Amino acid sequence: MQFQIRTLYCRQWRCRLTAIAWLMTFLSNAHATADVQFIAARVWPSTLYTRLTLESEAAPTYRYFLLHHPERLVIDVDGGELTPALRQLSRHISAKDPFIAGVRVAKFDPKTLRIVIDLKQAIRADIFSLKPVANFQRRLVIDFYPKLKGDKDPLGDFITDKQVLAAPKNAPPLAQKSSSFVVVIDAGHGGEDPGAHGLRKTLEKEVVLQIAKRLKQLIDQQPTMTAVMTRSDDYFVPLAARVAKAQQHSAAVFVSIHADAYANRHARGSSVFMLSTRGATSAAARFLAQSQNQSDLIGGVSRSGDNYLDTTLLELIQRKTLQDSALLGKDVLEQLQKINPLHKSRVERAGFAVLKAPDIPSILVETAFISHPEEERKLRTARYQQQVAEAILNGIKRYQRQRHEQ
Ligand SMILES: [Zn+2]
Repeated sequence: MQFQIRTLYCRQWRCRLTAIAWLMTFLSNAHATADVQFIAARVWPSTLYTRLTLESEAAPTYRYFLLHHPERLVIDVDGGELTPALRQLSRHISAKDPFIAGVRVAKFDPKTLRIVIDLKQAIRADIFSLKPVANFQRRLVIDFYPKLKGDKDPLGDFITDKQVLAAPKNAPPLAQKSSSFVVVIDAGHGGEDPGAHGLRKTLEKEVVLQIAKRLKQLIDQQPTMTAVMTRSDDYFVPLAARVAKAQQHSAAVFVSIHADAYANRHARGSSVFMLSTRGATSAAARFLAQSQNQSDLIGGVSRSGDNYLDTTLLELIQRKTLQDSALLGKDVLEQLQKINPLHKSRVERAGFAVLKAPDIPSILVETAFISHPEEERKLRTARYQQQVAEAILNGIKRYQRQRHEQ
């Protein structure tokens, strides 16, 4: 009897194990053959790096390898389908792309989709996936960097942007301005991170880049000033790299340029923000800081750049920096008042990650609300873009004079 019970017991377990094994086989097959449909493909070329983004609902399982002579990057995706987005991918490749010559996509076998990227030079690839965020589904991100650069520093590539460091044609060479007052201009968002958009589909990342370029031109015309941009084209730069770039250039000031949206479409006017180490000064300031700090999740970073953001802020240095930030903010705000109504008449404070350089006075300028129809219209005009650039320049010049007199 005892034997029979044991047999029955064993049979039950065997049955359960068989069921579990069957279920696991089913699941693994289901996983292996699950369709991965890439619904969108985007390419963001720049001299610094090119980013290719493939968006899908399901998380793709993939392998990749580099081939040489000629240089190619091959990515195999399990269960990948040849979707219209992938068929049209080669059309997104610009002839000017420094890294990608072309893309071919085909089924390697019934279960595998193969993406072959023909390269113009030997590269270092950084491939990672991002979880859904904002309006995006899952994203497979492939970054192409020049092979020759060392990869000790995860953000180093973003800081030494050749295009950014190149002196403008009409400006005196950097060497002649060695005692220069360096202004780091940060055009918000870029690449995968479009920032906010207006009713007429104006993108914040495009408008702020135009204003930033105009400001750079104005600053480079000043005998004692030099401008450095954190991005000079439509590509994404992590927030920490923007701060690090300002530190690397020993910036005198850091100015981040934005044109955000607010939940209330009636909200309008220009405003200036500085870092707060103790909470925000208003609900709008808190909302804007939270939405700006999401930039890394939307734009996509593969590795943390926390080594650049020392969270144990050097208090003494920072106290002086915050005083200077307040002065700079006030000077810029006074100039903005001449061209647009102010949203808030005082410099607001919130925990913006991009303003966290402990030793560099930093402000974030909300040039206007892109969510307000009339301000969106203004933001699109060259006239307003130039007016904003001039207002910021005049604010910085006044700050420079005041600091000199102190
Ligand atoms: Zn913004």
